[in-house]
Amino acid sequence: MNKNDSERIASFLVDFGLKQTTKPEKADVLLINTCSVREHAEQRVFGFIHNWNKFRENKPNLIIGITGCLPGHDKDEKIRKKFEKVDLYFPIIDLPNLPEKLNKINPELFPLEKSKQLSEYWEYEPIRQNNFSASITIQNGCNNFCTYCIVPYSRGREKNRPLKEILEEIKKLDKEKFLQIDLLGQVVNNYQAPDPENFSLNNPYQEKDHFAALLWEVNQIEGVKRIFFTAPDPQYFNDWQIEALTLPKMMNYLHIPVQSGDNKILKKMNRKYTREFFIELIRKIRQVKPEIALGTDIIVGFCGETEEQFQNTLDLYQQCDFDISYHAKYSNRPGTVADKLFVDDISEEIKKERWQKIQKIMEEQTLKKNQFYKDKIVSVLVTECQDGYCQGNSKEMKLTKFLGDKSLLGKIVQVKINNPERWILFGEMV
Ligand code: SF4
Repeated sequence: MNKNDSERIASFLVDFGLKQTTKPEKADVLLINTCSVREHAEQRVFGFIHNWNKFRENKPNLIIGITGCLPGHDKDEKIRKKFEKVDLYFPIIDLPNLPEKLNKINPELFPLEKSKQLSEYWEYEPIRQNNFSASITIQNGCNNFCTYCIVPYSRGREKNRPLKEILEEIKKLDKEKFLQIDLLGQVVNNYQAPDPENFSLNNPYQEKDHFAALLWEVNQIEGVKRIFFTAPDPQYFNDWQIEALTLPKMMNYLHIPVQSGDNKILKKMNRKYTREFFIELIRKIRQVKPEIALGTDIIVGFCGETEEQFQNTLDLYQQCDFDISYHAKYSNRPGTVADKLFVDDISEEIKKERWQKIQKIMEEQTLKKNQFYKDKIVSVLVTECQDGYCQGNSKEMKLTKFLGDKSLLGKIVQVKINNPERWILFGEMV
């Protein structure tokens, strides 16, 4: 989502008459779009700002700014005070107010009449950096307040984008270029269209579930070949959404973050489902789409997590038979409920040990799951070709590699898998 936001910031600045450069020392404006989900990402911002401030010697009018999650949750600007000089400091949702701010700093470079006056940041049409799939933000912010998470503070409360705007943005895309649509939202499957009157009359889900109805609408758009979405929350899945996974253009992959397999930890995390609910949900999904690949996110070492509770996570992991998972060692984020109410009492050593254990299980399972594709044909969107080989993701989000040349870039091809390895399916084009 941050990458997509950056694409909108770029578009905003280009509309103002600026040109993009890959050389920071040449820039008149340097903005960093920050992520604060992990502490490490935040720390790196200090390094960037320090280095960029050196450019001021040769460019006294240089404007340096920080946007994204960091200013979003730094309401009292405590963190801002730790930075060397920054001229702009604003959360991404304030992008529409940037013309006035830039104009105040340098009215000559930023005359107000040059700027587009929009009311929501997502109205700026992104300058897309990815050549093959288009990220489409459908929602921003979150009301869930998982106790470990900084997002509701940094991005604010959930706000859903009008359906009409979402569909228009997709319809405007270059159909030859963007075969895949990635729908983005913090709790993407809780999407509630502010303008439900824009659903098609024959949309079978319009009265039932807005997210399923949105998937149906995007499925009808000519030129769209594959649809992916991230990140859903297990608690909002219902039968309509599960059924919509079988719509023809949907990816054959679902990323569904579980975070923990222990009910007490889930409760402490304020995740509003149980392990039993989650396991049953996975069963239902596989019932309607048996060959779907599944991925998840897991946090190890959350406050007070016992060995037994961690074992419950491993057990759930194995029961759900995931294809892939992304693991994080819990890191305390100041300002969150967990920071205020719980003690981050699991030692770094134990966190690391648990991380390694689950990683090992995942790696074994990933290899085993990939064996299923031996001699099968998968559909691949080619995103890279080099030295006689091409690669891209299959509909199951499996990186697939085969002999081919640059003429295949951006195309969807069929590949027969003859050598499935842990991280790559090797095959030949058929
Ligand atoms: S659902 Fe939970 S983890 Fe996801 S953005 Fe909202 S608060 Fe954070």
